[in-house]
Amino acid sequence: MEEIFVKTNSRNEMIDITSKVREKVKQCKIKDGICTVYCPHTTGAITINENADPDVTSDILMKLNAMIPPHEGYSHIEGNSDSHIKSSLIGNSSQIIIENGNLQLGTWQGIYFCEFDGPRSRKVWISVL
Ligand code: ZN
Repeated sequence: MEEIFVKTNSRNEMIDITSKVREKVKQCKIKDGICTVYCPHTTGAITINENADPDVTSDILMKLNAMIPPHEGYSHIEGNSDSHIKSSLIGNSSQIIIENGNLQLGTWQGIYFCEFDGPRSRKVWISVL
C-alpha cells in the first residue's frame, strides 16, 4: 500500500490529487490492473469529477452545503455531523483502471480528495492490484 498526504485549507474543499496518484501508480510498475484510492477519514471522501472548470467543484460543494446544513438538530456531540453525512454520501474510495502503466481517466476527469471538516492534514491510501 502507498500513502499520499494532503494538506487542506478550508472546512469544505475538493483537492485534485490526480498527479500524486499517477506518481504512485508509476512507482508500482504495474502494467495492467486496478488502482484503489481510499480515504481513511470519517469526514473526508474520494470522488472523480471534472477538473477542467473549477466552477464544477465549487458548485458541488455549494449544493452539498445547501442540502446538508452544519446545524440542524444533530445528536453527535462533536458538532460535525454535516461533515460525516457528506463523507458517507460521496463515499470513501474510487477505483481506476490501469492500462499500459497509465491511469485510465476520461479527458475531463480528475481524482479529488474531498475535505468536509478542515483545515486538516489528511492521508490517502493507494493500493494497486
Ligand atoms: Zn464527528
